[in-house]
Amino acid sequence: MSDCIFCKIIAGELPSKKVYEDDEILAFHDIQPAAPIHVLIIPKKHFASLAAGQPEDWAVVGQMQRVAAQIARELEVEESGYRVITNIGANAGQIVHHLHYHLMAGARLAPLGV
Ligand code: IMP
Repeated sequence: MSDCIFCKIIAGELPSKKVYEDDEILAFHDIQPAAPIHVLIIPKKHFASLAAGQPEDWAVVGQMQRVAAQIARELEVEESGYRVITNIGANAGQIVHHLHYHLMAGARLAPLGV
């Protein structure tokens, strides 16, 4: 999508600090980290969120979780622990409408809630 920030990062039109890339998935450091380690994992195919996923999208969503676990291992936060979340829509605070998982680690994270 031409007006999507993450599509522009995928296309190389905006810079990013990449931590992982394959044919279908890209991961890079969040520009405004909310934890000492804050990585975003995105599919290269644009769709807004899990709520917009089509049957053909679930395979890459599964792969995104494998990639999250791999990045956590590579960044050596597997033992100390980490969080993987995705925001969907307004009440969850989704700002960028291109599916992404946040991988957060490196400190004791605040409990989830309101
Ligand atoms: P959301 O609230 O789940 O949509 O999270 C969007 C995330 O994208 C936020 O944590 C932002 O800091 C992050 N973000 C927005 N623009 C960029 C960028 O250009 N590079 C890296 N991260 C970004």
